[in-house]
Amino acid sequence: MQQRVVIIGAGVVGVLSAYALATRGAKVTLIDSQPGPAEGCSRANAGILAVGHASAWASPSAIGSITRALLRREPGIRVTRPTDPALWAWGAQFLRNCTASAHATNTSKLQRLSRMSRNLTQKIEADLGLTGSLRHEGGLYLFQNLAQFRAHAATLAQGGARADDQMEVLDSDALIQRDPALATMPEHLAGGIYSPVDSVGNCHSFTKAVSEVIARKFDVALHFGTHVTGFETDGRTITGVKTDHGARAADAVLLATGTGTAALTRQLGFAPAIYPVKGYSGSWTIRDPDRIPRLPYVDETELLAVACYGGQLRVTAMAEFAGQSDLSLPDTRLDVLRAYVARQFGDAVDAHSASFWTGQRPSTPAGPPFLGRVRRWDNLWINAGHGQLGWTMAAGCGDVIARAMTAETPTLRDVSSTARWLDAL
Ligand SMILES: Cc1cc2nc3c(=O)[nH]c(=O)nc-3n(C[C@H](O)[C@H](O)[C@H](O)COP(=O)(O)OP(=O)(O)OC[C@H]3O[C@@H](n4cnc5c(N)ncnc54)[C@H](O)[C@@H]3O)c2cc1C
Repeated sequence: MQQRVVIIGAGVVGVLSAYALATRGAKVTLIDSQPGPAEGCSRANAGILAVGHASAWASPSAIGSITRALLRREPGIRVTRPTDPALWAWGAQFLRNCTASAHATNTSKLQRLSRMSRNLTQKIEADLGLTGSLRHEGGLYLFQNLAQFRAHAATLAQGGARADDQMEVLDSDALIQRDPALATMPEHLAGGIYSPVDSVGNCHSFTKAVSEVIARKFDVALHFGTHVTGFETDGRTITGVKTDHGARAADAVLLATGTGTAALTRQLGFAPAIYPVKGYSGSWTIRDPDRIPRLPYVDETELLAVACYGGQLRVTAMAEFAGQSDLSLPDTRLDVLRAYVARQFGDAVDAHSASFWTGQRPSTPAGPPFLGRVRRWDNLWINAGHGQLGWTMAAGCGDVIARAMTAETPTLRDVSSTARWLDAL
């Protein structure tokens, strides 16, 4: 008999998990409180499959960054609710992951998931007739500061670079050869790194398109505007989910609930450490495409990500620890985006077309997501906590969880964050 799987959460992670399960023969129901797919953190992120940036935040150098952020001296990071008890509990675990060896282990997990995911994203595009949704031409990591650039280049030379990813260190002339639009930007480029394995595309449009195709092709049932309030249980088994539109029976349940996970699971006696790390994006209509870099890039000096697709320039910035419910858009934050775009791109974009958004990265203390079966339950699974790399890793994590749920041989092992309540994959 077909396994009935209820997936809670239709962000990019839930939708690509639905694809992976439906293509393995499961009867999938996808439920989300929002009116459509990818309306949470997957709505207006930078859109970069940032394989070249797949690195855990928790590292020996992060301790200095967090200390400077608490003193308001770290431009890209803000701690606006330092008294939040959830932040302290999460922060204690984050600090435990700041050793060099924990950082190396966590980064290796993120890199393996990201690389597999990028290949699978291309396969999904081809399988579902969505080819051309993303550009698979690589991405850039740019430095305005020469000392910072040299330090990064030296780290790559010492083996920080992954030979299989063929990262290239480029001086400013080579960067401009790689993407001529960089020549029109006024800020001096000290140098950069080209990652050939990065891709770019609109996460919201892609997730929406995938949800529509899998509904049509694999009979995935989509229930939007439906909030899951609890679970129906029998011994060690979850028999269904309770929603504000009635109950739904299930043979297995997958949590793809991002930052909403702990609020839902506390009633089952566990609360995954997933902190909402707030970020901001702005989108502008492009007037002169010749002056906008075609390759997505991260400005490593100013800590912003820049990408263009669908005739729009998108710029994202900031990691802000502001608690669970703060989705405000303060001008002080948006001004950072406005000023950067005005300085770098001037009238190549229409300043009046700007629209702004904020999202909460579902971040685990270690970096890798929670992937696996919840230990106390025979049929409750989780795929949540993808932090700054949810779009990058969604296809791979969907594949990993679907293989486990359908008892298929795994292609990747030991890629999840660990926790007492989790049989981690
Ligand atoms: C500014 C910014 C820039 C970013 N840039 C990038 C980037 O360039 N590349 C990259 O890889 N990642 C990027 N990210 C991170 C990426 O956006 C996230 O990791 C990703 O969107 C997480 O996807 P998700 O599906 O887990 O969460 P979400 O998209 O938030 O989906 C979770 C869904 O679960 C639903 N839900 C929760 N609880 C319930 C419930 N009880 N009942 C019903 N539904 C529920 C929510 O409504 C939501 O729709 C960025 C993030 C930000 C904020």
